Amino acid sequence: MSQHPTIERLAASTEEFTRIRRDLHQHPELGFEEARTSAIVAGYLREWGYEVHEGVGGTGVVGVLRQGSSARSIGIRADMDALPIDEASGVSYASQHAGRMHACGHDGHTAILLCAARELAASRNFDGTLNLIFQPAEETLGGAVAMMDDGLFERFPCDAVYALHNAPGLPVGCFLTREGALTASSDRVSIRLVGVGGHGAMPHLQSIVARNVPSTEVAVVSVGMLKAGEAANVIPEHADLRLSVRATRPEVRELLKRRIGEITRGVAAVHGMELQYEYEELVPVLVNTPEETRLARQVLTELVGPQRLLSEVPSGFLGSEDFAWMLERRPGCYIALGNGDSGPSGCMVHNPGYDFNDAAIPFGAALWVQLVEASLCTSPRSGAPA
Ligand SMILES: [Zn+2]
Ligand SMILES: [Zn+2]
Repeated sequence: MSQHPTIERLAASTEEFTRIRRDLHQHPELGFEEARTSAIVAGYLREWGYEVHEGVGGTGVVGVLRQGSSARSIGIRADMDALPIDEASGVSYASQHAGRMHACGHDGHTAILLCAARELAASRNFDGTLNLIFQPAEETLGGAVAMMDDGLFERFPCDAVYALHNAPGLPVGCFLTREGALTASSDRVSIRLVGVGGHGAMPHLQSIVARNVPSTEVAVVSVGMLKAGEAANVIPEHADLRLSVRATRPEVRELLKRRIGEITRGVAAVHGMELQYEYEELVPVLVNTPEETRLARQVLTELVGPQRLLSEVPSGFLGSEDFAWMLERRPGCYIALGNGDSGPSGCMVHNPGYDFNDAAIPFGAALWVQLVEASLCTSPRSGAPA
């Protein structure tokens, strides 16, 4: 099957960026510890003529490339961190570090953005400012916020931001994105009920989803911990509960947040118990903005054709993504990239048997190259935002 010229051109570099990806794979680093990874990223960006800023939000790196005179700008983000997992993929370039593994393919996301970075620096077929954002600590949902707290968007203004994630089960060369909500929010609630019978709150809390959330929406409230008392013959003086709350729409998240608070306060009041309550927002629902999603889908349609561009998220999909924080601050779009459906590439992420599929590198890199050229186009383009 003949491919789009940009994919064909980048496919010639696949072997080289596969080597880079597999080197990162052998040396996985956990969130905010990506010293080796970010040094490698910074080294390549410098070599290719980028203005490089290291230590943004801890171990983050931003590469800036300016071309022409336009004030327009774009940000593209790749995550760099690994997971605390013992690798069991069986690949020859498996992790050399026990208890650490690139089990989510962030080694691949980093290699893809580097591949696009080199191509964009060579072709320079755009007018404006390109900001490449290499982010630490996506898995712990703290890296995006750390970079923004370090002035990411003030120091490196971006009209819009984009990111991708590999998707096992989706064939290589296919993409998926859509306007609106795409990945779930994740929140944590800590409750302490002081007084006899604190555990009585649990059934009420577990009924929240069934009683309040329409059946067409996906939401989960789970009790991850319930602890009351230390010994069988002593009546406990308090009960501790930890809840995990997930929702796939911002309205449902707000509803759950409100109802959990109301029910917990109600239970405490009815039983005459004192309540200590903390609702911690870990990450919001990721929401793709209309204009930027339209542009991304237009670019993807030109790249792979409409048959290989999906928009339906599999039901029950409740993954979270800390790029959602960046999309709360800037318009943009998050895109899923096919990782294939067989062998380690078809294995779900966060599984010890998973591996990123190097055949996806030219597709991901071509997306970034075409999206930059479309966003920061040198000549007027039909249908593109001004
Ligand atoms: Zn992950
Ligand atoms: Zn991931």
